[in-house]
Amino acid sequence: MKSILKDKTILIMGVANKWSIAWGIAESCFEAGANIIFSYQGERNRQALEKLTSNMRSVHLYKCDVTSDEEIIDLFGQIKENFGIINGIVHSIAFAKREELEGAYYNTSRQGYHLAQDISVYSLVAVANHARKVLTDGGSIVTLTYFGGEKAVPNYNVMGVAKSALESSVRYLAADLGVDAIRVNSISAGPIKTLAAQGVKGFNDILHIYEDKVPLKRTVTQREVGDTAVFLLSRMSRGITGENIHVDAGYHAIGLL
Ligand code: NAP
Repeated sequence: MKSILKDKTILIMGVANKWSIAWGIAESCFEAGANIIFSYQGERNRQALEKLTSNMRSVHLYKCDVTSDEEIIDLFGQIKENFGIINGIVHSIAFAKREELEGAYYNTSRQGYHLAQDISVYSLVAVANHARKVLTDGGSIVTLTYFGGEKAVPNYNVMGVAKSALESSVRYLAADLGVDAIRVNSISAGPIKTLAAQGVKGFNDILHIYEDKVPLKRTVTQREVGDTAVFLLSRMSRGITGENIHVDAGYHAIGLL
């Protein structure tokens, strides 16, 4: 594992703090020898990243709010200028209004629906499009999804529908970009206590179900997701695209009563 990403440059989008899945992925990529570029949404995240990365080799931070086409274009323009080519992108970004992550799905507002789709799904499409100018030597794009995109999970609501669209986008983008040797895959992570996850009502109850019922009788960690991301970013997975890999301690494989 130590040098599996040696000489590879990976862009990681979506670190908010040390609990973020994107941070677990960054640690795994760093350990695998990658050169890492981070993009962040706002000043608070930049400060968090500066602190987290103070022990890392060379660190590169770029601002990118994915609701802005200009910022996405600017991000890849700057990466092109400073690095020329990169080899992989981790898209670990999602958002829905807290009040829409509880109760009945039919109460979702038009604006809340659009917002969740824009930040959590369309951003991957726009990123993949503009990333083509820096993935000119092929590459691997990895995004994060959740089981609520496959089945109706209580309270996940508008985010579950966004994850279904995200998983479908992975397949369409894989079909488009395969000709350029760019692979697109998702990781369906089990529940992990992060800032975003705690917006979902009843999130802690789901964690307890995991400890009792899933095959591995535990939840998963950010680093377990990170190690799978390293696999998907590396040439070890060179024959895989359009895939969704579950890192969920086996939850997706069983029927729960
Ligand atoms: P997190 O630490 O809160 O990360 C979410 C990230 O998305 C934050 O850095 C957030 O930035 C960023 N973001 C939101 N809106 C953005 C925008 N407009 N532009 C740029 N960045 C934006 O939570 P996480 O759990 O690690 O989430 C990462 C991914 O994993 C998400 O796709 C999530 O759905 C998925 N996932 C999570 C779990 C889980 O249980 N935690 C399970 C399966 C899948 P701000 O902090 O500035 O808002």
